[in-house]
Amino acid sequence: RAKQSTADGFLFYSQEMNRRSRERLKLEGALRRALEQGELSLHFQPQLCLTSHRVVGAEALLRWRHPEMGPIPPAEFIPLAEETGLIIPIGQWVINAACAQARAWQDQGLPLVRLAVNLSSRQFQPGLPQQISDTLARHRLTGDVLELEITESMLMHNSERVVAMMEEFQQAGLSLSLDDFGTGYSSLAYLKRFPIDNLKIDQSFVRGLPEDANDSAIARAIIGMAKALKLCVIAEGVETEAQLRFLAEAGCDEIQGYHFSPPLPADEFAALLARVNGAAGIASATPATTH
Ligand code: C2E
Ligand code: MG
Ligand code: MG
Ligand code: MG
Repeated sequence: RAKQSTADGFLFYSQEMNRRSRERLKLEGALRRALEQGELSLHFQPQLCLTSHRVVGAEALLRWRHPEMGPIPPAEFIPLAEETGLIIPIGQWVINAACAQARAWQDQGLPLVRLAVNLSSRQFQPGLPQQISDTLARHRLTGDVLELEITESMLMHNSERVVAMMEEFQQAGLSLSLDDFGTGYSSLAYLKRFPIDNLKIDQSFVRGLPEDANDSAIARAIIGMAKALKLCVIAEGVETEAQLRFLAEAGCDEIQGYHFSPPLPADEFAALLARVNGAAGIASATPATTH
């Protein structure tokens, strides 16, 4: 009987494995087609400066809507894209789409803000700087409209080659952000060795603010360290007014999160930008000297 159930268990296990690998194959095929079928798009999450109260940038986040399966979250398809190498053409698509959007907004007369795109380590290859500068040129944009978000894991390998590439990006006017800071193999030596402009405090440290003593201490420490190193510091995943207030008081430069705005489709982001920056512009240009 015991033998029987072990055999059943094995059978079940292998059927389960088969089912999973079939699903994976199906998703991989679907992802391959997604690029050609125009199923990918970008959403833009505004980044708010805590001193000027203006939107100073946006993070471009990839969205995939499959015609039958509906929206598939990046947490499901990005790892698959990385494993299969599809992240290379997808990553190129993202950079091109972000530049095309920046060009369209500039043509509409919108005040231009910096767009941050996420990079996977597999994209970090010798041809990347040239590819990015070609894309910028094709859209008649300068490098300062783009920010590249990288993660700590990218800094662990080939450090000399990576430093050279990062310097190349900065010379072209791009800025570099260290995403999900504190969750990887956080070596403080990275902050010294690599040319970085911004630190993004991971949302896992923001979640417990302001009550959680550990999160508060970590957030304050990251902000203090960023200041000392003259880096801009941005908090991710800010969901409440209390979190925002804590971060503002601690000296955090910028925030991003559902409290201010979720990632938005391009047209909604443009409307928000005009509303927030337009109003802030008028308010600051018209000092309240009369009453
Ligand atoms: P990330 O770069 O750390 O992006 C932040 C994630 O937090 C986004 O999830 C965003 O929608 C979400 N978020 C923003 N505000 C809040 C908030 O207040 N609370 C909470 N709980 N979450 C918030 P999303 O869009 O699902 O993306 C997940 C991850 O997928 C990203 O994390 C990034 O690592 C990756 N990703 C997204 N787009 C791309 C892309 O174009 N290329 C690459 N390589 N990776 C991407
Ligand atoms: Mg990011
Ligand atoms: Mg991020
Ligand atoms: Mg992050």
